[in-house]
Amino acid sequence: MGPPGAGKGTQAARIVAAIGVPAISTGDSIRAHIHGSTALGLEAKRFVDAGELIPESLINGMVSERLSRPDVADGFLLDGYPRTLAQVDALDAFLAERGVGLDRVVELTVDIDEVVARLLRRSTVEGRADDSEDVIRHRLQVYADETAPMSQVYAARGLLVQVDGMGDVDDVTKRILEAIGFFFDGDGSDGNDDDLRIAVG
Ligand code: ADP
Repeated sequence: MGPPGAGKGTQAARIVAAIGVPAISTGDSIRAHIHGSTALGLEAKRFVDAGELIPESLINGMVSERLSRPDVADGFLLDGYPRTLAQVDALDAFLAERGVGLDRVVELTVDIDEVVARLLRRSTVEGRADDSEDVIRHRLQVYADETAPMSQVYAARGLLVQVDGMGDVDDVTKRILEAIGFFFDGDGSDGNDDDLRIAVG
């Protein structure tokens, strides 16, 4: 978890490279649907452009379809999901049916002013329609209202690890890997053979 601009996507790519499980980014999947003009993409576009979350019916089906593919059998990292308490329930039900559960939920903590500055920089580089200043402010409000309450739920389950998301990108990656109990042993393997299922909100 972490507000828009916290660096979830960047860190997710680095974490999966280190631990060797697939990353499932709902933001990337939705953008692919939009670019491909699929039925889901056409329906999702106006929500994404306005900085709103897309409806539960669209997002939950997309994630459960992705989590049903064979490459997640040994673990996965969710980037951008769950994002509401209703999505927590949907994910719980889906995982319970398969007899698995999340191992860790990572929350990146950041300075909000820094996040807005990052997103505005990103808007000039990537040209994302949802990166204009008023839409950014709205997405931050949606995060505070809809997503931030999830941290209490996962903290109560003993799954939440909070990591300082400020500063050097490499340092943040190291902090996350340490916080999730991934230890480098020098030979490129992690010394921990358990399957790993992680959500970063
Ligand atoms: P960010 O974290 O910077 O907001 P993402 O790439 O994760 O960006 O998501 C972009 C947009 O995709 C969100 O603003 C929202 O409209 C939609 N989206 C992504 N994940 C979800 C989700 N779990 N539930 C609903 N909408 C989502």
